[in-house]
Amino acid sequence: MIFTVAIDGPAAAGKGTISKAVAAYFGMAHLDTGLLYRAVGLKVLNGCDPLASARSICFEDLHNSNLRSPEVAEAASKVAGIVEVRAELLAFQKSFARREGGAVLDGRDIGTVICPDAESKLFITASAKVRASRRCQELRKNGMNISAEQVLKDLLARDARDTDRATAPMIQAVDSILIDTSQLSVDDAIAEAVAAVKKRIVL
Ligand code: C5P
Repeated sequence: MIFTVAIDGPAAAGKGTISKAVAAYFGMAHLDTGLLYRAVGLKVLNGCDPLASARSICFEDLHNSNLRSPEVAEAASKVAGIVEVRAELLAFQKSFARREGGAVLDGRDIGTVICPDAESKLFITASAKVRASRRCQELRKNGMNISAEQVLKDLLARDARDTDRATAPMIQAVDSILIDTSQLSVDDAIAEAVAAVKKRIVL
């Protein structure tokens, strides 16, 4: 079966958790496309050229434990604005999306640019305050001491860069289902997402 689930939305809205759960539920492969930009961002922070970094990305780069830091997130959203970097990462994502057995991809432009023909599209969002509080807890759990105000400021700056860029901006695809997780438990958010994808699977 070839079946693509495209999941987009802003940082810390819950799309990572939901994407993994949806992939596990349907037995599909999952790609967190943010990791591609984070891996490029990390290489750039280490002094490499953005385009050369994008060209050299491989699966092992996506498992680097340094990819989750706020500095790498910021670098990722900066390199994500470079048209040539995005173009370099396009083919890998497109081919992942059409792999046999189905695929769930999460990011910012999956339903609009990478997989405009995806069989199922979701846009996961939450209020900025809720997202900042979740991200803050996650960072603190990982030993990073950062103020809630700083996390909110960083998220809003990243949202603005992702939404305002000229190429592949973060925008809800017109044919996607919106899920606002602000007031939802993790289990309820996952259940809504699974139900939405199920409706698109023709048996
Ligand atoms: O999803 P995550 O927060 O890990 O993404 C890091 C950054 O990578 C985002 O802020 C965004 O700038 C960029 N990104 C993107 N397109 C995607 C996925 C991520 O531009 N499909």
